[in-house]
Amino acid sequence: MDDLYIVGSSGSMYLNAEGGYLHASKESLSAQNIEAVYPVGMIGEAAIHAIILRRGSSIPFEKANLRSLLSVSKNEQEYVTLSRAAQLIIWHNEHRYCGRCGHKMLHHAVDLAKHCEQCSLAQYPRISPCIIVLVVDGDRCVLARSPRFPPGRFSTLAGFIEAGESAEAAVHREIHEEVGIDVTNVRYFKSQSWPFPHSLMLGFFADYAGGELLADGVEIEEANWYYRDAMPDLPPSFAISSALIQQFLNGDV
Ligand SMILES: [Zn+2]
Repeated sequence: MDDLYIVGSSGSMYLNAEGGYLHASKESLSAQNIEAVYPVGMIGEAAIHAIILRRGSSIPFEKANLRSLLSVSKNEQEYVTLSRAAQLIIWHNEHRYCGRCGHKMLHHAVDLAKHCEQCSLAQYPRISPCIIVLVVDGDRCVLARSPRFPPGRFSTLAGFIEAGESAEAAVHREIHEEVGIDVTNVRYFKSQSWPFPHSLMLGFFADYAGGELLADGVEIEEANWYYRDAMPDLPPSFAISSALIQQFLNGDV
């Protein structure tokens, strides 16, 4: 099978005529429009590459909404490939200059990285670990909504791991900060790459251990206990939050 190319520019991806992500042939994009090409992985037998267009270059395609594309990805492999391509496109655009000396960054000779000729600093694609947690208490669980959510949507609690912090400590801290309760028996579920813009979501379950459920009013505008037979509008099925909630709904937590 021919190689496929996912095309992006300044953190955006492009749509093809059918509304999927653009996988153009390299030849169909004029060479002067191409700034960089990164290997992404395989879908079936096709090698996937992310092409970053030069800033200011225009091609006759619509820009894609990454969240919409991921929501209709056909399988785990396609999700992973789109997520990785999006993160490489974003990383390339946000790391053009050395953070130490300000010199222009060049491709690393061996690694998938950028390299500063002036001071030798290497810069790898950035990944930001986050915890995402479903707190349970017997037949009920905590779901909360951020002001950024669509109306009526509730989800699991989540937050970035701070410098020097373990994932488990972040679970305790974030839950206490966001909704005021304490948890115990924190246990790992699974992880998911989340390219908005470069998170790695580490999924956990935790048991309620005390305190009054109270939203902080900043990151969380409302938090409630929910029973299996009376759930609110939930996150889309491709998100790890949905997988955590589904485990609870199935009685597997
Ligand atoms: Zn430098």
